[in-house]
Amino acid sequence: MSLLRQPLLLLARSGGVKKVVETMPVSAGIVRSYVPGETTTDAVRAAGELVADGLHVTLDHLGEDTSDRGDAERTVEAYLDALTALGHAGLTHGAEVSVKLSAVGQYVGESGEQLALENARRICRAARNQGTTVTLDMEDHTTTDSTLGILRELRQDFPETGAVLQSYLRRTEEDCHQLAYEGSRVRLCKGAYAEPASVAFEERLEVDKSYVRCLKVLMSGQGYPMVASHDPRMVAIAGTLAARNGREPGSYEYQMLYGIRPEEQRRLAESGETVRVYVPYGSEWYGYLMRRLAERPQNLSFFLTSLISK
Ligand code: FAD
Repeated sequence: MSLLRQPLLLLARSGGVKKVVETMPVSAGIVRSYVPGETTTDAVRAAGELVADGLHVTLDHLGEDTSDRGDAERTVEAYLDALTALGHAGLTHGAEVSVKLSAVGQYVGESGEQLALENARRICRAARNQGTTVTLDMEDHTTTDSTLGILRELRQDFPETGAVLQSYLRRTEEDCHQLAYEGSRVRLCKGAYAEPASVAFEERLEVDKSYVRCLKVLMSGQGYPMVASHDPRMVAIAGTLAARNGREPGSYEYQMLYGIRPEEQRRLAESGETVRVYVPYGSEWYGYLMRRLAERPQNLSFFLTSLISK
């Protein structure tokens, strides 16, 4: 792993740095390459362009780690607004939403989990009314059990709700077995947070090997695997495993982030695969951007230039 990864991931959670950096406009070079804009209109416009290109979308209203009930409520309202706007734009056949439970109340006092569940339910209901779905993003390992618990509750009423598992966690292969049941939508990613060695693989090779083991479980299972990676080897292995398990395109999907490998997103879609692009939007882009820089520290100088010239 890059030497800069851990420090950048720790900075991702620094409130002080966040305050300074978020004064940079979303239009600044590096931010704009990962985040299409701040408003629902910006997000729906980006979704429309991607759908017109044959891609699917999942919209993420940026924000995380709130301990404030009012902030959680504003996030829910932003999602309800986005779902209505997607409906008006006729995009809900191709676009869903991704939700971080820490943005809708998971950390708000002792009843935070209950609040997050109720808020997630409201978003799931609105999504269903618009004919689309919700996926629960996965955050750091301290929230995994809580998030999977809330997912279980939500799936009783909204079985279409997507889960996310992270191959860097040692527990994830077992979680894949648990979640590989019929109708279960599971996004598999490598994982984007700073995690201790007690719970996570530290070497890139170990994370990749775990990713392949998890893919084998998901592709041979009864669920709907969502292969979230830009790594050409993981994409190729997913294709091989899908074919080996007799899966047709459409019985699984690829997912990539907005602005990363867009030509590969289009190439896969043109070859008949389902490809979903994760589109983050909003003013709270700091944590998201820092995690992307941690994955690609080469972009750091580009980021610093944007910051200095703001
Ligand atoms: P890597 O080995 O990191 O990258 C492979 C190649 O992709 C690189 O060589 C490079 O060419 C390209 N690339 C990767 N990152 C960048 C970048 N930032 N800028 C430019 N090029 C890049 N993580 C979570 O912890 N929870 C989630 O809920 C979650 N949801 C996700 C949803 C989607 C749709 C995707 C694609 C990722 C999500 N992630 C999530 C992030 C994920 O865990 C990884 O941190 C991220 O995808 C990088 O891993 P990778 O598999 O692309 O492989």
